[in-house]
Amino acid sequence: DSYLIPKYTFDKFIEGDCNRLGRAAGMAVANKPGLTAFNPLMIYGGVGLGKTHLIQAIGNQIKDSFPDKFVLYVSTEKFTNQFVNAIRNNSIEAFTNFYLQVDVLIIDDVQFLSGKEKTQETFFNIFNHLHQSGKQIILSSDRAPRDLAGMEDRLLSRFKWGLTADLQQPDFETRIAIIQKKLQEDGIQIDFDVLEYLAHSIQTNVRELEGVIISLMAQASLTRKEIDLELAKSTLKSIVNEQEKELSVESILDVVTNHFDVDLETLRGKCRKKENVFPRQIAMYMLKELTNLPLKSIGYHFGGRDHSTVIHAVQAVSEAMEIDQNVEKTIRNLFTRFNLKGV
Ligand code: ADP
Ligand code: MG
Repeated sequence: DSYLIPKYTFDKFIEGDCNRLGRAAGMAVANKPGLTAFNPLMIYGGVGLGKTHLIQAIGNQIKDSFPDKFVLYVSTEKFTNQFVNAIRNNSIEAFTNFYLQVDVLIIDDVQFLSGKEKTQETFFNIFNHLHQSGKQIILSSDRAPRDLAGMEDRLLSRFKWGLTADLQQPDFETRIAIIQKKLQEDGIQIDFDVLEYLAHSIQTNVRELEGVIISLMAQASLTRKEIDLELAKSTLKSIVNEQEKELSVESILDVVTNHFDVDLETLRGKCRKKENVFPRQIAMYMLKELTNLPLKSIGYHFGGRDHSTVIHAVQAVSEAMEIDQNVEKTIRNLFTRFNLKGV
């Protein structure tokens, strides 16, 4: 299995100024895998801007045009997990050998290699072997190679060997085209004023744009109404309200895990190491300050701990803030991510 998702094709990837270079380079690579100067091809950009779609589209096209080639898509998370299992089972050689058979290796979200030295080392070796044998490597990352921290220099320099192209926020015209395309796929047509309203209102990323369109179509079919300006406005309003409520858990934990460089699972888990306990307590503290969640629900987000654990965490953080200026500064900083003054 190549783990390619058939719906991610070039055909469905709308071209705009925001993605022209990446798309063109992707096409070139898809037509001549391993034979262009774009090796590796590194696509980077923020969340929801089409990295996964684009690199999957390259894989799908190669599979279509070159059925004999072994195309493999893997997320960095999965690659890392496989590697960790291989260490545990004493099967590193088998792991490496498997990857050396691949003709086109597509690795998504390589920023997650950051800080994982052993995985990086093994990936480096696989990369070198494949590259030397003229195999195509395609990478994605949420930031430019120069901004990837916790990555070995020799690996970073490899990332820069080929072509690096970024995906940017879609401009107004591209947003219009994307909305039109998505609706068209469902056989829906809407007036230009509605289209314009949507494209103006959602400027963040394509995933969000899609989310709104899906809600809108659902809303239309539920209420048996046409998609008009009124329905668009009310749907968007309810989505924004929904998101404000949700600001809480997901985004707060996100800020904490990023700041302290712990993964979500560890943050929520049972590990008692000091470097994990403190971020966990801060996360609980922030959830208490920024949401209306009862203490019991906050505990629930951390592997079902009870409310007394949360109380203890809140106290511990408050005390730490009083006696340690650095802690206070850190937490103030974290709060400013939500444009709130905090405590
Ligand atoms: P990323 O991997 O960068 O977070 P994705 O590739 O998952 O983003 O894209 C998010 C959603 O937006 C996907 O459903 C994808 O199909 C869609 N999308 C992104 N860019 C485009 C585009 N240029 N044209 C059409 N759909 C797009
Ligand atoms: Mg992605």
